[in-house]
Amino acid sequence: MLIDNHGRPINYLRLAVTDRCNLRCFYCMPEEGLNWLSRTELLSYEELLRISSMLVGMGVNKIRITGGEPFVRRDLMELLSSLSALNGLDELTITTNGVLTAPYVCELKRLGIRSVNLSLDTLDAARFFAITRRDEFAAVMHTLQELLKHGIDVKINTVVMQGKNTQDILPLVELTRELPVSVRFIEEMPFNGDGHQFSGIAWDYVRIMDEIRQRHPQLKKAADEPFSTSYNYNIPGHKGNVGVIAAYSRTFCGTCNRIRITPTGILKTCLYDDGVLNVRDQLRMGDSDEQIKQVLLQALNNRVVDGHEAERRAKSAASIHQSMAAIGG
Ligand code: SAM
Repeated sequence: MLIDNHGRPINYLRLAVTDRCNLRCFYCMPEEGLNWLSRTELLSYEELLRISSMLVGMGVNKIRITGGEPFVRRDLMELLSSLSALNGLDELTITTNGVLTAPYVCELKRLGIRSVNLSLDTLDAARFFAITRRDEFAAVMHTLQELLKHGIDVKINTVVMQGKNTQDILPLVELTRELPVSVRFIEEMPFNGDGHQFSGIAWDYVRIMDEIRQRHPQLKKAADEPFSTSYNYNIPGHKGNVGVIAAYSRTFCGTCNRIRITPTGILKTCLYDDGVLNVRDQLRMGDSDEQIKQVLLQALNNRVVDGHEAERRAKSAASIHQSMAAIGG
């Protein structure tokens, strides 16, 4: 098992396979998109597989594929198929915006993918367009139906933003009455990709939960899974449940079991750090698996205690304004 310098087990890798995205969520990237990475800057599938296999050998047993939008990378299913066969990997999951996902759901199920995180900030088509700058609401809802039809657990991730979608909180909670989905409300973070001023949040997890509790006073705290980043709640009579992720308040760092690899192969041991190791360079320098494992261990033995320390230590303010798509959300 991998243990960091603060005694926390590390068993969860979030692997970003691209920075490209087919939506332009205003809180994630500018309208014109990012300065997209070239193919050679991205980790190749062989490299993604090699580093995953090494980390699984070291104790990682859960991998989440993310991006950018994973489904815009060609032949994603091939990578998923190879990853799903890794010995020692107990859970392979994906975070997707759902625009291109529906046709692949049957295959995801066949590969043993049991749960998918679907990003959806509103149930209103016009607001969806205003937030994402793309007219794809129907495609995302179709993906939601397909996932449920195939018995895949769905967590809906909703970023809560003052003046943009707070009127969607209660309708999204209402969705859990008839659908067996977990709706998780996430605090907005500064990773917006265009360096525009981020002056904190008006809706933190306490305010979000107050809003829900006012409508549903019978809300009951549910048991949170170990290492959960969300505080979860049940509402009597609802098939699904709700949760809140204090991504900006950072209340869950004490049990953080996750590391990230960005699309260019930068290892982040905290979402708020500016990268601690370039794994792609190690791979391309011709290092052996043993050599790479050693540098990975060194990085994990130097982990910050929490996201606040990571933010203070980050060498450039630019890293905090990077797009989530470039980090791997
Ligand atoms: N394209 C995939 C998707 O939309 O789920 C995966 C990548 S996306 C960057 C992952 C998650 O990060 C999404 O749920 C998105 O809403 C969230 N995200 C992006 N920018 C964010 C920000 N500034 N604050 C909070 N969450 C953010």
